[in-house]
Amino acid sequence: MEHTIDRSQIEAILQAEDLTGLSGDEMARFFLDEAGLRKYLPDGVCRQDPRDGANIIYNSARAKRPHHIGEAAPAVEPDASKCPVCNGNTTGILDVAELSSGVTFINKNLFPILYPQTESQSGAGRKDVLGERSAFGYHFLQWTSSVHTRDWQNMPLADLVVVVRRLAALERKLLFDSGSMMPDFESWDNVKNARGFVSIIKNFGKLVGGSLAHGHQQIGFSNIMPRAFRNNLQYAQKHGELFADTMVRDNPAHLQVADFGSTVLLVPYFMKRPYAMMLFIKDTSRQYVCELGDEEVSDLAAGIHHAVRAILTVMPDSGRTSAYNFVIHNGPGAGLYVEFLPYTQETGGFEHLGLWVCQNNPENVAKQLKDVVGAGR
Ligand SMILES: [Zn+2]
Repeated sequence: MEHTIDRSQIEAILQAEDLTGLSGDEMARFFLDEAGLRKYLPDGVCRQDPRDGANIIYNSARAKRPHHIGEAAPAVEPDASKCPVCNGNTTGILDVAELSSGVTFINKNLFPILYPQTESQSGAGRKDVLGERSAFGYHFLQWTSSVHTRDWQNMPLADLVVVVRRLAALERKLLFDSGSMMPDFESWDNVKNARGFVSIIKNFGKLVGGSLAHGHQQIGFSNIMPRAFRNNLQYAQKHGELFADTMVRDNPAHLQVADFGSTVLLVPYFMKRPYAMMLFIKDTSRQYVCELGDEEVSDLAAGIHHAVRAILTVMPDSGRTSAYNFVIHNGPGAGLYVEFLPYTQETGGFEHLGLWVCQNNPENVAKQLKDVVGAGR
């Protein structure tokens, strides 16, 4: 029998069926009232490396996470019977949607990197430390499926479309309807009036930060702009076009892995690590997942499915433990794209100097990935 969190366990911790109906205040209240979170609150401050603008947010309490949580993510054959999610041992659920088998749902991260600004925290931030700022927001988890072994690589496309749609609904709610949670921003999206920054990421495998084997995405909502967002913005300002414009037009054709219609999967010509890929929405006027049309949502879901499936095929073949991250680049300056970062090589000293030594080349891996994806379609 497959391990899963069943409907009755979900009902027991269900706080909202559909997050789009929540007001900004209700959303904040659900976080502030979740008692379990208070043990692991972030420090609530951000400092910046003045050399490259990297933002560092601190959460010293995360080191005190229960040992078994940190250890519970072997990449292969996880002991599903001990999965806290399947056992209903998780935080209140704010959104749930039916899949062909089971459900997909969104709840709060028990070990948040971001938390609403409270009175005690708003005083945090040492005025004598250069450039220290308050850091606040929300930290969500999206469980791809209630069934333990189901995730991007093995779910039907129609189900993955539902997963993307719920992600889009959350992104829209946070950026455009989060009440007084986020202050106005001048330097960000003053055209669409989005507030704050929505970071959507996935960690798969404990080697790259995946602390639970049950497939999930993490969504951070912050007042802090991630450095990669700023990089995209600065690229657009410098080049007079978006990074996505350049890549969709100029990345060499032989490095294209697959075309899904309105999205395209490719190996970037500047690949830093073997099997790194990017999935672009071809219409580069798209900035957010919540702006995508039906066909684009479907082609985005198909692209992620095939990229993840390919990574999980080539990694064991090359003798590596399966582990990858993906991150979504949304917002002004990016277009809209997903970056896939399989953990195919460690980070060494040269890399810390910005001199990346990559143990394969883009031409070889594109050819191989094209075969793997082609065979799976
Ligand atoms: Zn599970």
